[in-house]
Amino acid sequence: MSSIFSKIIAREIPADIVYEDDDCLAFRDIAPKAPVHVLVIPKREIVSLAELQPEDEAVMGRCVIAASQIAAAEGLSGGYRLIVNCGDDGGQEVPHVHFHLLGGRKMTWPPG
Ligand code: 5GP
Repeated sequence: MSSIFSKIIAREIPADIVYEDDDCLAFRDIAPKAPVHVLVIPKREIVSLAELQPEDEAVMGRCVIAASQIAAAEGLSGGYRLIVNCGDDGGQEVPHVHFHLLGGRKMTWPPG
């Protein structure tokens, strides 16, 4: 299923891209929930965590490592949060799996 994120990958709509490699893309969230709010996505169209297949292992790992590198580049030395919303109950709105990298303020727990 194609989503708005496929259009960002294809450069059909603009985004503030902060990182890219062969497998992953990262760009700033259009409606940031923290001073730093970056979305890290696999370029492969994967709808959600619930649809992950064994062959997605490497790309998903690559996205997590990219998120760690972006957090360091963004100066989040005090910590940050990396989360994935999955499905309706998880609050997922865009049907292309994505990691939210949130930082620059103290996070609260539990999330809503
Ligand atoms: P979800 O609720 O699916 O976990 O998160 C989707 C995120 O994508 C939201 O935080 C939302 O602000 C962001 N988003 C939705 N459309 C766009 C867009 O066109 N560009 C960017 N940069 N972010 C988007």
